Amino acid sequence: MATRPPGTRGSGEFALIKRYFENIGSQAKGSNSKGPHSKCSAGHSDISLGVGDDCALINPPAAKQLCLSIDTLVEGIHFPPKFAPEHIAQRALGTALSDLAAMGACASHFSLALTLPSVNEQWLSDFSRGLAAMSERCGVSLVGGDTTKGPLTISIQVHGWVAEGAALCRSGAKVGDLVFVSGELGSAAGGLALSLAGQCPVDAEALLARFEQPWPRLALGEQLVGLASSCIDVSDGLLADAGHIAMRSGVALALDLDVLPIHPALVQLFKESVFDKALSGGDDYELLFTLPPERLACLEALDLSTRVTQIGTVKAGSGVSVTKNGQPWQADYQGYQHFE
Ligand code: ADP
Ligand code: MG
Repeated sequence: MATRPPGTRGSGEFALIKRYFENIGSQAKGSNSKGPHSKCSAGHSDISLGVGDDCALINPPAAKQLCLSIDTLVEGIHFPPKFAPEHIAQRALGTALSDLAAMGACASHFSLALTLPSVNEQWLSDFSRGLAAMSERCGVSLVGGDTTKGPLTISIQVHGWVAEGAALCRSGAKVGDLVFVSGELGSAAGGLALSLAGQCPVDAEALLARFEQPWPRLALGEQLVGLASSCIDVSDGLLADAGHIAMRSGVALALDLDVLPIHPALVQLFKESVFDKALSGGDDYELLFTLPPERLACLEALDLSTRVTQIGTVKAGSGVSVTKNGQPWQADYQGYQHFE
């Protein structure tokens, strides 16, 4: 009698895993490259055994801590039905890796729990191609996972390494620190609106790309180790994520709406809602971090992989406040929460 929940086992599950998931990533092909976007431990192969056995075997580098995080994407909640499978894969891996970027970790490998309503070879082939492309660009390898039948759901657990005690946490912001953000804000929220509308002007393609293929700021995260006093990735919207730093650090964050980095296409296309998108739109996966002012020169001396902008300061108190032209700006939406 079957002791497992109904799955795709027995109907070619193993062949399917071998075909689509055995050789994904930079170490899987024997190159040991960490990819062009990571500066960490180049050439180090920490994977001793990947897909195919009961467990993967990993050799931890000396004096490093394992940094791990899991993220789940559910069709209809995190991406629209009929979303291109390459983009589902890229989004799933990109958003999961963003958490490693936020901690300043060097991304190494990941596992994948895939729940599929049915076996569709074309879908799997496209998904696997998107996953392989993203894995190689980010310098990570797929080392194992699980495949089951059910509503389309993708869970990815990512693993990375960070020097002992050096991880960037949400809790380290101090009064007087400067608040920075990478890239631009609100782009993914604009991209989602364009994706749902099914049309995108040529000059707004960057917005769509930020939503479909969110790029984890891995190289920047590693560059911020030893500099930033706290860091978080902006997944739920700037206000919500700034609120997490404020709460965990026991401080207040004062943000200036006039200097928020916003893509010109977002301003042009979403005149009414541009500030709402920049403050509360989720899915940008930029890094929000605080920096002690005495380290500003060190930050400026770096050849940063991504543009960063100072958007505020850390004050005594609690919560997040926003001003525009020196006046308080009322922003009450605090990001998406499940079960609310
Ligand atoms: P077990 O029953 O021992 O948990 P499985 O039969 O679920 O093993 O998986 C067989 C092998 O295939 C394992 O090495 C597992 O990590 C890998 N695997 C299963 N599904 C996936 C997937 N979607 N992506 C990558 N590896 C997978
Ligand atoms: Mg087993």
